[in-house]
Parts: sequence; C-alpha cells; structure tokens
Amino acid sequence: MTGTGTDNARPDNFIEQIIHKDNASGKFAGRVVTRFPPEPNGYLHIGHAKSICLNFGVAERFGGHCFLRMDDTNPLKETAEYVAAIQRDVRWLGFDWGERESHASDYFEQLYGFAEELIHRGCAFVCSLSLDEIRATRGTLTEAGTPSPYRDRSVEENLDLFRRMRAGEFADGDHVLRAKIDMASPNINMRDPVLYRVRRAHHQRTGNAWCIYPMYDYTHCLSDYLEGVTHSLCTLEFEDHRPLYDWVLDTLATPHHPQQIEFSRLNLEYTVLSKRVLNTLVADGHVEGWDDPRMPTVAGLRRRGVRPQAIREFCHRIGITRSDGTVEMSALERCIRDDLEAVPRALAVVEPLKVVLTNYPEDREEWFTAPNHPQVEALGAREVPFCRELWIERDDFMFEPPNKKYKRLSPGAEVRLRYGYIIRCDEVVTGNDGEAVELRCSVDLESRAGGANAERKVKGVIHWVSARHGVGAEMRLYDRLFTESNPGGLKDGRRFTDVLNPDSLVLREGFVEPYLAGLDVGSRVQFERTGWFYLEPERSRPERPVFNRIITLRDNWS
Ligand code: ATP
Ligand code: MG
Repeated sequence: MTGTGTDNARPDNFIEQIIHKDNASGKFAGRVVTRFPPEPNGYLHIGHAKSICLNFGVAERFGGHCFLRMDDTNPLKETAEYVAAIQRDVRWLGFDWGERESHASDYFEQLYGFAEELIHRGCAFVCSLSLDEIRATRGTLTEAGTPSPYRDRSVEENLDLFRRMRAGEFADGDHVLRAKIDMASPNINMRDPVLYRVRRAHHQRTGNAWCIYPMYDYTHCLSDYLEGVTHSLCTLEFEDHRPLYDWVLDTLATPHHPQQIEFSRLNLEYTVLSKRVLNTLVADGHVEGWDDPRMPTVAGLRRRGVRPQAIREFCHRIGITRSDGTVEMSALERCIRDDLEAVPRALAVVEPLKVVLTNYPEDREEWFTAPNHPQVEALGAREVPFCRELWIERDDFMFEPPNKKYKRLSPGAEVRLRYGYIIRCDEVVTGNDGEAVELRCSVDLESRAGGANAERKVKGVIHWVSARHGVGAEMRLYDRLFTESNPGGLKDGRRFTDVLNPDSLVLREGFVEPYLAGLDVGSRVQFERTGWFYLEPERSRPERPVFNRIITLRDNWS
C-alpha cells in the first residue's frame, strides 16, 4: 500500500476506534481487511473519494489490506471503460490495491453454489411472480407483506427451476430466486428479498456465461466473506440492509463473518453526487464528458488541475461520522487553494485591454527581475519583458471610479505596474459603442528601484503583459456547475437541469508572459491577482497554451 504521507498524525475516527476495540478483543485475530466496492456504471466522484480515503486509509493505518472490488452485478449498466476509469482514479488519488483487484463477477460460480445451498436449507425459493407483483405484495412500513403463492415450493422443485433459470430456459422476469425470511418483518429488506434475477444480457467480463445475475445485497456480504474482509464500511443508507447482510452469512454459517459499519455519505453544496444524475449531465450534453472540469468527478477535478493531495486533505478535514449533513463547497475550495499556495506566480491577462506608453521609446525594451513567489525563495526568479505596448486587464480600468476606494486605472489616475513603473492614464481611445479599446498612458521612468521616484506611492498595483512578448493563450474560466446550493433536492419543482450555471465555463483569449508559456504542460501556477491556473496538457500547443482556471483567489460566492 502506498503511503499518503500526512495520515498517521490524525486522530482516530469512530470506525478506527471500533477497530482498536476489535483488535483488543481479538475479534478478527487482529486482522484488518477493507474494500472499496464501486459499481462500474459511471466514473468516481468526490463522494467516492471519501470512501476510498477511508477504506484504504484504515487498512494502511492498521497494517491491513484493502481490495478494489468492482461490484459488477448489473450487466446492463456496466462497462469496461468504467472499470478502467475507476482504477485510474483510485491510483491517481494515491492508493494502490496491489494484487487485491477483484470483481464480484469473479465469484459468480461460488455465489451460485451458495444459492443452491440456501435452497437446500429451505431458505430460498423460486418465485414466479413478476417484479411488479413482488413490489405490490411487499407491504408498506405499516402493513406486512403478502407471502408469495410460490413460497412453499419443495426443495426439489426450487432446485430444478433455479438450475433451469441458469441454463437459460426462461425469459427475463419469468422467475426470480428469493430468500425465505419473513414477509411480516418491520424491515422491508427482510420480506423475502430477491437474490437472483434472469437477465439475458452480455456482461463486460463474463460475456454470455450467465443469464442470471445476483442482487447487490446477496453479492456484497458474500464477496466480503470470500475476501476475508473484516470491516465492511458503507454509507448510512445501508444500515437497514445490515440485517439481510447478516442473515445471508448466518444462514450459510460462513466460518468468517465481516462486520458492516455505516458512516454518513458526503453531500456537497452546489453539485450533485449521484452517478445517475452525473450520467444524465453527460448523456444530455450539459457537460463535455465524465471528466469535464466542472464535474465533481475525480477525473473532472484532475482535468481541471486539482491535485490529489488536495482531495485527500479535504476527505481528511471533513472526517468520518454518522451524522448526515452537507459540506460547503467552500470547504473543498479552501483545500484546493491551500494546496496551491506554494506554486509559482506570474503575470497573465485574462481579458486584455491595450495600453500604449506614449513617452516610452518604440525601440526600447527592458527585462525586470521578478520573484516567482513572494515567500518561497526556492522557486527562484525570472525576467519579465517590458516595452511600449502592454496588455492590462479590462476590468482594471473604469471611466468613472465608483468611489474613492477605487485603486485601479481611470482617466487621469495613476497605478503601479507590478514589478515595474507607475503609469498615468492620459487618454482613452473608444470604439463605436463607447467602450475603451486602448489607453494612452505616460510612464514615470524614475519610479522603479534606483530611480528618483522609486518610493513614490500610488494607491493601486495592477498586473500586465508586454504586448510584444506576450503569448496568446486560451483561458478557460471554470466555475461552479449549478447556481443553487442544493441542485439535487430543489423543493420548488425545478430540476437540476434548470439550475445549471450558464457561466460555469467562460472562454477568453488572453496573454501570458513568456515564462508561463514556457512551462511544462500540466504545470500549475497562480496568475497574480486572478487565480490559480493549470496548463492544460491535452489542449495546449507550444504556440498556443491553454490554461484552465482551477480556482479563483478568493471565494466570491458567499
Ligand atoms: P451513486 O449514488 O453516486 O450512484 P453508489 O453508492 O451507487 O453511488 P457505488 O459505486 O455503489 O456508488 O459506490 C461505491 C462505494 O462508494 C460505496 O461503498 C458507497 O457507499 C460509497 N459512496 C458512494 N457515494 C458516496 C458518498 N457521496 N459519500 C461517501 N461514500 C460514497
Ligand atoms: Mg451502489
């Protein structure tokens, strides 16, 4: 297992406290085996990251193992592409399952054998009601269910039918295998739940070998048992399934019985953590794919430029509890900012406005030395070119300053150029509809270090890029995908597709100083005063870098 560095200093969460007790009492002979069991029906999202950090983190902490198990029992929705994406994402997050890669489908033969065993013990029967009829006779929270008319079939008849289900003699929906438990149980999960259904579908791993597939609840506990899992960690909605988990293992009298422990799932503001919803966003073209940088998927966060340690730190900070709640998006964003704090900083203009320095000679050019980080000296320094024509940020200029606190450029006002001179806006060239298209400014050539006016103070400092040296770059300004904090649970009849943020991706043609264009693709930098950006490896070309905005400098949502 790969060490993830920071983990050992943190205090125990409630699950780790349970494990300490189990180890003290010798419950599992001191062994700790966990698993992360995604269904390969979509990409992993940041909620899954919480579960990954927990399962792998617990195993690492106790010197145990963690399986990466594909819970692949529903062939209609699962693909090999999803399997590969899940593996890539878990690895990228910093976890290594070694040889412990498994697939529930690896156990189909054994699961089938256990099912025959349940039939032999009189604890499972083939039911010939339709799925709708089964649902209709299940009862409600206040009323018991109605026993199936097929409940008392003999062991021989059940075995015969179940074998013929497997042999492919029946169509989807003709029969199912059900556990025989208690139709009056207050827990609906215990009312003779379905264990197997006929599904004549090709499976991405087992091909056409099977036409019956086991249900999740049946598969999960037995897979845990077969892998020697000791602590089966899952989210709270499975609490009501635990009696069934235990029933299957108890009824089969397995020699090892893993302990299921539930914790609360991650809910995050301004996004949705449900593969079904994320799938809709992809399928209906609201985003470019599962790895769209606006998606809360691990692949999306990676493409945006977020680093895995920021995600792990987030999972660490939110902790593991049993209380449901929704985490503020700003908590994730804070982790992302904190992680990027020590990356280099440089000058880039996202929405350019031309500045001409009227008293600066056409043929002159200077190179100013600028530190790559104000605090991190080890990042060194670079030379920033300067000349008569510059780009500045369009919103660093206003015709009419809104108030006295305004520190940027306006007609007659002065600002200092970062690392450079003080300039004054003398004249504004306007376009047809009155917008500024060029500022004509004069520069105080004595205002840099060593000059007579080096100490002269002006209110504002702005960033800039030399127009002669600057490299044109595509700026992809990503923002939150939804405008509502709870897009998945709107109470007013709107759906999540009604509250998509129209500005979740804004494209701009900007300019960057040569240093930025020369970085390796995949680098992360701070554009001074603007935000953190990622030199996008897939879209960037040497002559035309593409920068994703990972995150703004400050939270501008609250
Ligand atoms: P979704 O609702 O997104 O489809 P799921 O639970 O169906 O999620 P699985 O692939 O079955 O997705 O999940 C694999 C594991 O990840 C499960 O153990 C599940 O409990 C856990 N998990 C899924 N979503 C979250 C979440 N939001 N927070 C914490 N753990 C999660
Ligand atoms: Mg699931």
